[in-house]
Amino acid sequence: MTTSDIATVDIAIVGAGAVGLAAALLLANSGRSVAVMGPAQARRDGRTVALLDGSWRLLGELGLTGTLAERAAPLAVMRLVDDTGSLFRQPPVEFRASEVGLEAFGWNVENAELVEALAAKVGENDAIRHEPGLVSDMSEDSTGVTLTGEGFAPLRARIVVGADGRQSRVRAAAGIAARDWTYPQSALTAIFAHRRDHRDVSTEFHTRKGPFTLVPLPGRRSSLVWLLDPAEADAVAALDDVAFARRVETQAHALLGAMRLDGPRGRVPMGGLSVAHFGAGRMVLAGEAAHVFPPIGAQGLNLGLRDVIALRDALGEAVDPGAATVVAAYDRARQADVRLRTGAVDALNRTLLTDLMPADLLRGAGLLALSRIGPLRRLVMRQGLAGGMAP
Ligand SMILES: Cc1cc2nc3c(=O)[nH]c(=O)nc-3n(C[C@H](O)[C@H](O)[C@H](O)COP(=O)(O)OP(=O)(O)OC[C@H]3O[C@@H](n4cnc5c(N)ncnc54)[C@H](O)[C@@H]3O)c2cc1C
Repeated sequence: MTTSDIATVDIAIVGAGAVGLAAALLLANSGRSVAVMGPAQARRDGRTVALLDGSWRLLGELGLTGTLAERAAPLAVMRLVDDTGSLFRQPPVEFRASEVGLEAFGWNVENAELVEALAAKVGENDAIRHEPGLVSDMSEDSTGVTLTGEGFAPLRARIVVGADGRQSRVRAAAGIAARDWTYPQSALTAIFAHRRDHRDVSTEFHTRKGPFTLVPLPGRRSSLVWLLDPAEADAVAALDDVAFARRVETQAHALLGAMRLDGPRGRVPMGGLSVAHFGAGRMVLAGEAAHVFPPIGAQGLNLGLRDVIALRDALGEAVDPGAATVVAAYDRARQADVRLRTGAVDALNRTLLTDLMPADLLRGAGLLALSRIGPLRRLVMRQGLAGGMAP
């Protein structure tokens, strides 16, 4: 079979997680022929994603906020609590969305429900071909990339988007080197029903082992992301559902009253990953294929969705979507945003893990400045909490 006998699309997206599916919808909307490859399922493991304002608006553009609104809770207030016991501990800092003219910083939804809603939209879109098999091989030549894999005939694309997660095969095929590292932490995830109303407030307790965060869901429900050292995570994960809920209630200083587990729990080892370039040849990277960091401040998927928007913009009206100019424009567009978020999350996480006085002093001074200096608060709210895309 010669390359001219193989079906060709403008764009093949490898990976049908939240980033890959959102990319398929947005790029098909801009008139490109698109294929998205891989199974569209996410495990139900208590993981939720807080979709900040810009991401929510993107989902609105994709026609999804109607479906998701009833499954998502608004985040009207984000509260940071220093629970490290440090000498330089500051009182809690609260950020209100209304201070930057927003109804909410974003909306929190179960990751599996988001993927399900995106996959349903992809299924309704005739301009998108979805192949649920895994891609096993990619070979690039001067006019495109041929993809082969399980359960589908070989397919050619003029550009390949690697949205295939941390172990990205696209990244390897493109020869893009990644630096990855681990943290001495695991994240426990779960969803709880609780006695008290959360009043649309998300609370992030900064403890010595890492952040312990409760994020609102519809009704009297909240999701938990708790970073612990692996041995303690083992011990807490081994508790039965009732004892686990009681342990979380205590750790939350009974903020939400009595708690009851409401669904399966999950556990994720913590690590980071960064790449020097976001594209090479006719391949580009988006989402966790390009950047991974711990779930602090709800940044990961929001950054991945900004990759998708930047890719749409870099593609513009280009005749050849895989042209070197498109790949270079995308690479340039993603450098600053991704480096800033990866660096900031890494630095905050490391100051929590050390009990060195200078780190405590620095973190305490940072929180104090955030609570007292209005323009700084608003800058952080616009750039960090509203995802840098608020009006
Ligand atoms: C505990 C926790 C809480 C989080 N909370 C938030 C939050 O509040 N806000 C936020 O913005 N982010 C959050 N994140 C980060 C967010 O979950 C991730 O950034 C996001 O899910 C990554 O999506 P993705 O599509 O890039 O990757 P993935 O979800 O990993 O999807 C990759 C997909 O690629 C597929 N794939 C892999 N290899 C192949 C192949 N060879 N062929 C075809 N398909 C392939 C996989 O099957 C998978 O479906 C959190 C993360 C964790 C761990």
